[in-house]
Amino acid sequence: MAATIIDGKALAAKLKENVSMEAQTLPRKPGLAVVLVGDDPASRVYVTSKRKDCDECGFYSEEYALPASTAQKELLDLVDGLNGREDIDGILVQLPLPKGLDEKEVLLAIDPAKDVDCFHPFNVGKLVIGEPVFQPCTPGGVMEMLKEYGIDPAGKRCVVLGRSNIVGKPMGMLLLHANGTVVTCHSKTPDMAELAASADILVSAVGKTGLVTGDMVKEGAVVIDVAMNRNESGKLCGDVCYGEAAAKASYITPVPGGVGPMTRAMLMKNTLTAAKLHQGL
Ligand code: NAP
Repeated sequence: MAATIIDGKALAAKLKENVSMEAQTLPRKPGLAVVLVGDDPASRVYVTSKRKDCDECGFYSEEYALPASTAQKELLDLVDGLNGREDIDGILVQLPLPKGLDEKEVLLAIDPAKDVDCFHPFNVGKLVIGEPVFQPCTPGGVMEMLKEYGIDPAGKRCVVLGRSNIVGKPMGMLLLHANGTVVTCHSKTPDMAELAASADILVSAVGKTGLVTGDMVKEGAVVIDVAMNRNESGKLCGDVCYGEAAAKASYITPVPGGVGPMTRAMLMKNTLTAAKLHQGL
């Protein structure tokens, strides 16, 4: 039987619509500040799309585009100023920062109550103990997809490929909290192919085109492709060999149109959560 394609684009639109409706009921509009340092073209695209999402959701948004030569102190002062602003609920510093800037120090400087990316160690800790304030956007978006399609990780073997702080680790944590049995693979995992082939839910977040071949997918597995790579012809693609995997999977996410739009929608959801928190709701 052909795999069901998980439509991240449609689901993200629905999520944003719900966020927009709830935002209208608040005494004050949610506000998001996005800080971009340097001129990385991919980061510029992400920042523009975040602004568009804010407009769609009826949020107030501000964008700070700083030159790559910005000093650490200048960036920290900006974050500090935004921390103190009553009309700003969420602060997002677009990563990666240009060389010479200390990302860790900048992320630590963001007020955890405005950390809508869920990167601050306080929020990461809250996530680990099962009391999250914000959902990390990409893994949170994956969990929303699973919920929407009636896929319950409880009792399932969940294999996550990749262990980055922004995707792999929080993904494993959310699946664990949802009572999945989680295995996390990384570049030093010798038997990744076998582990992947044992997964009921397989999440790939590595960033290597063609990494997940059909023989690494169990018959009937749910396959979630987080990666956003460019193939030789510059086309956006994931880690998963889509055709081979779709022939065996029960559910599969496409790239594009899968996890990507959900990540953006989750940022809006987190900004709404922050606005509610700040307004005592
Ligand atoms: P990252 O920080 O580069 O982490 C990649 C992870 O993959 C690392 O843990 C690395 O292991 C592991 N890895 C590398 N080669 C491997 C191999 N051959 N076998 C198994 N594991 C391997 O990347 P990231 O930020 O997590 O992003 C991963 C992918 O997701 C990228 O394509 C990125 O563009 C995409 N992404 C998409 C979204 C979205 O919204 N859809 C959001 C964020 C990221 P080590 O830890 O051992 O080095």
